[in-house]
Amino acid sequence: MLAAMRDDTRRWIQADQAHCWHPFTRQGEWCAAEHDPLVLTHGQGAWLWDSEGRRYLDGNSSIWTNIHGHAHPVITAAIRDQLEKSAHTSFLGFTHPGAAELASRLCGFFPDHTLERVFFSDDGSTAVECALKMAVQYRMQTGEPARNGFAAFSNGYHGDTLGAASLGGVGRFFEKFKGNGYPVTHVGLLDDLRALDPKTLAGVVIEPLIQGVNEMRPWPAGMLAELRAWCDQTGVHLILDEVMTGFGRTGKMFACQHENVIPDFLCLAKGLTGGYLPMAATMTTRRVYEAFLGSPERAFYYGHSYTANPAGCAAALASLDVFDQEQTLARLPVKIEHLRAGLATLKAAHPIIHDIRQCGFIAGIELRQPCGTRFPAESRVGETVCMVARAHGLLTRPILDTIVLMPTLCVTIDELDHALSALDSAFLQIPALTPTR
Ligand SMILES: *Cc1c(COP(=O)(O)O)cnc(C)c1O
Repeated sequence: MLAAMRDDTRRWIQADQAHCWHPFTRQGEWCAAEHDPLVLTHGQGAWLWDSEGRRYLDGNSSIWTNIHGHAHPVITAAIRDQLEKSAHTSFLGFTHPGAAELASRLCGFFPDHTLERVFFSDDGSTAVECALKMAVQYRMQTGEPARNGFAAFSNGYHGDTLGAASLGGVGRFFEKFKGNGYPVTHVGLLDDLRALDPKTLAGVVIEPLIQGVNEMRPWPAGMLAELRAWCDQTGVHLILDEVMTGFGRTGKMFACQHENVIPDFLCLAKGLTGGYLPMAATMTTRRVYEAFLGSPERAFYYGHSYTANPAGCAAALASLDVFDQEQTLARLPVKIEHLRAGLATLKAAHPIIHDIRQCGFIAGIELRQPCGTRFPAESRVGETVCMVARAHGLLTRPILDTIVLMPTLCVTIDELDHALSALDSAFLQIPALTPTR
């Protein structure tokens, strides 16, 4: 591989392998001679190009962030216009037009007097972190300081900062840091939650409709509404982590709208800026907000240097404009059904596919041995499939042996077919590559 490579590509890979440290990555393998990393240089719509000029469909929306495609002229122009005014100004002590407008636009998605305050931060983890700190401080300031714990769901994922990580239910990521964060009780289903003493809980945190990192696992229909009802009965705050599901991914703007649920805290990030810049928002109610008024020590002493970054706000506002201009949500159902049918065809053709899980435009394809048992972890079938699919022009990442397919919402039917056909080719090649069969 190295021999056929352009000089630039070789230089970038060498510099990366000498100095970069990648997220969730076994660096030894990343830097191994036989590893052939892609250097992505540009994108257009649903596609990405590498430094060798090869084109790939962006099959996981650049780690679940991109909404309207790459290099979208409206979003790019909005960021450029903002940069000509300022790249960043402080939100500590000042405001700016973009933040004021974006906060109003976000609140406008919810009925009056529900979610009406927006606290900006930088990424999904900090959006969750803010919700947790607000929820705990709220209890201190409303006479219930013993309600300082949280309930979260087994196998959930809410980010990697210490507070957010303490909610994490994925053992392989979070076991090492257990005991460093909030007191968290992990529950499987609602019945486990009902068994807890609500007087010890500030809030319950959930990825609504579908758990992402848990191999794309949807909740039973109606579960979210039941959870809301339990929260209403017990006074436990409902904290929805819509970092993955927000901004159209499930077919509606927000997943909670499928079950007419309004949370006490809503955490947004990945798709907020259309996937262009890192930015997050924690939304909450007047009731929560008002507990922070009054004497100085009641204020929420939390923030980041780049809070409400103007370029990020411009991107987010432009992304919301594009939802309107392109009727993104109205055009989704046809694509969602096409994806559903295409995945069913794949499943019928390949015994290696154990289960297809789909929620709107988010899909997980779980691979197992034809007898139904999981592949041994060391056979890394999911990774192999994604490497072969890459050679067929599709980029995505597996979660264990579940292949994630969640293209940008702007993808066309033809482009979806390209993705499905790349997976079809990959599955055809896999039996020969897996020693277990
Ligand atoms: C990605 C993700 C996070 C963390 O967001 P970052 O921007 O990576 O910090 C939190 N919750 C969910 C559901 C996510 O998918």
